[in-house]
This record gives sequence, C-alpha cells and structure tokens, in this order.
Amino acid sequence: MTATPIDLIGGALTDGFRRAITYLRVSVTDKCNLRCVYCMPEEGLEWLRRDDILTYEEIAAVVRAAAGCGVRAVRLTGGEPLLRRELPQLVASIAAIDGIEDIALSTNGLLLESAAPALARAGLRRVNVSLDTLRPDRFVRIARRAGLEQVLRGIDAALACGLNPVKINCVVLRGENDDEIVDFAEFARRRRVFVRFIEAMPVHAFAREQQERYLSADEVLARIAAHGALLPVDGPGGNGPARYYAFADGHGAIGTISPLSHEYCERCNRVRLGADGRLQLCLFGDHAIDLRGPLRAGASTEDLAELLRAAMLIKPERHHLRLGEPAARMRALSEIGG
Ligand code: SAM
Ligand code: SF4
Repeated sequence: MTATPIDLIGGALTDGFRRAITYLRVSVTDKCNLRCVYCMPEEGLEWLRRDDILTYEEIAAVVRAAAGCGVRAVRLTGGEPLLRRELPQLVASIAAIDGIEDIALSTNGLLLESAAPALARAGLRRVNVSLDTLRPDRFVRIARRAGLEQVLRGIDAALACGLNPVKINCVVLRGENDDEIVDFAEFARRRRVFVRFIEAMPVHAFAREQQERYLSADEVLARIAAHGALLPVDGPGGNGPARYYAFADGHGAIGTISPLSHEYCERCNRVRLGADGRLQLCLFGDHAIDLRGPLRAGASTEDLAELLRAAMLIKPERHHLRLGEPAARMRALSEIGG
C-alpha cells in the first residue's frame, strides 16, 4: 500500500452535487451463509451465475481505475465476502494498487476466525463484524442459522491479528433485540471494540415489519445514557456516516448509524461495485451503470476511468427511503454497515 500522491487519470470523481467520491465498496459475492430477517428471505435470493460475477482481475481493474480518479479506500462486502475463495489474493492485489490507502472488510464473522490471519497478512486493515444479539437462541431467530460462538471467536481472532479498529454493527429491532442495547454497550467496554447501532431499513420483504421494528438512533442513545453519561467523540476513522460517543469514564465507545432519522446523504462519498459488475451510485435506487460489459470487451484503465466519471452525472442527491416503504432493490445493502 502507498500513500504517495499519484497522478489522477484526467480528474477526480466529483458528482453533480459537488461531492468527492473517494470510497469504493466492492461486493465480491451475492451469496450468504446467514439469512438475517431484515436482509434476506429464508429461501435466499436468485443467486447470480458464476460467469456473471466479476473475477478478481476484473475487480482489481475497476479499483485501479477508481484509484486513478482519487478513490483511496475500498471495503469488501457482499453477501458474505468470506464465502468467496482465496479472498486474501484479492486483498493483496488491491493493496498493491497505487493510491489505495485503506482496505476494510464487512462480514457476518462466521468464517472470520480462520480467515483473519491471512487477510491481515495480505493487507487488510480493519473489519466490521455484524452481530445483532449476544444470546444464542436469539441469534438463531434473527440470522435464521446458528453461529454466535463462531462470530465471537472471529471477533477475538480479528483483534489478535491486529485488525484495527474492529467495529461491531448491530441492527436494532424493537421487540427483538432492543433489550440488549446496554449489554452491547458493556460489550464495547469489555472487548475494546466499537459497537455501532444501525437503524433498520425498509427492505422489500422486511419493509412492512420494519415499521413496527424501527427504533431511532436517538432512542438508542437515550437508553444508553440512562445507564451512564455519554460524550460525543471523534470516531476511530473510516469512511462511514457513524456518529460516536464514549462513556464519561473513558472506557468503550459506541456509535450510531441513522440513515432514516439523520440522513447523511449530503456527505456521501461512496459508490458500490456489485458482484455482477454494476456500479451503483446510491444504495437504494436503480442508478447504476454496467462495468462488466466494458471490462469483458477489453476496456483499458482510462476507458474505465472515463465510465466512472460519466457515472457521476447520475448519482442522485439523496435516497428516498422512508419508514415502511420498500427499497427499489434488495441486494444492495452492504453500504449500510459503513
Ligand atoms: N454479510 C456481511 C455482513 O452481514 O456484515 C456484509 C453484507 S451486509 C448486507 C452489510 C451490513 O448491512 C450489515 O451490517 C447488516 O447488518 C446491514 N443490513 C442489512 N440489511 C439491513 C437493513 N434492512 N437495515 C439495516 N441494516 C441492514
Ligand atoms: Fe447475510 Fe450480511 Fe445479509 Fe445477514 S446482513 S443475510 S449476514 S448479507
């Protein structure tokens, strides 16, 4: 990895609302080994065919072009990214691209214990682990599969490998896990991780239920503050929209991600490359261009950079999600966990 300045290929990525795009999220697979109730139906999705998924070389080609246009941070996500074979190879090839300063991973943690050492050696810097409950029976209800112990071991392995910071993403569901908010705050203190509470978003099948399940970030903060005074603090760095708070005694920090109650679109710095090669300009919506076709037709780095710049013109100003209204697309959720 290098932080030395590099020449931009004909200019940075700036959208029509003067936002600089410096952060690329890359979904490496649409498949998952969990079925979280707020994300995927029990029977799974109509999975992409193998040939439709970008190869590591193709992903690296897009990252190279993006880096040439000023992108500095990449997050690997999914589906569940650790299901994709030889992920360290992709990490290593992205780490070798001039201009990329930060590589992160979002995972459900099930396979993290064994994967963490090789990923860290390959150049992964940090990891976000999704975890919505600390109770095994509840884990099975929310994720529709068992695995709490594995996830906890994965978190420990990530810390032991020096991945830093480790952030825990917890989607808060009223009546399901909201009685664990304070437990999670204590977990942050004990394990020295950052726990971020995420507002549940209305996604397709979950849209109707979301209205009853939704609990705002402000309510989360009020419940924790009743347990111990919280002070706003700078976060651990990163590229996401979280707001952070520490306990007055200085141990442990929590964050909130509130796409519905405190929209952060005006600070949006990101686009997302889908596993199928669609570059999505906003998480919730159909603003996208296809990069797989051009890649397979032999597009050069400069051709890809040109396409990335052209795509900036269709990045929307903001998302239009509201309580109980379904998102236009279902696959695209990896953005939330920041
Ligand atoms: N499988 C990986 C994981 O779970 O971390 C990466 C992909 S997952 C889609 C990325 C993040 O999106 C997770 O933190 C998950 O909790 C969050 N997410 C998925 N559906 C959501 C929803 N309806 N509302 C809020 N967050 C959601
Ligand atoms: Fe899988 Fe992550 Fe969605 Fe849960 S949130 S179903 S782990 S992709």
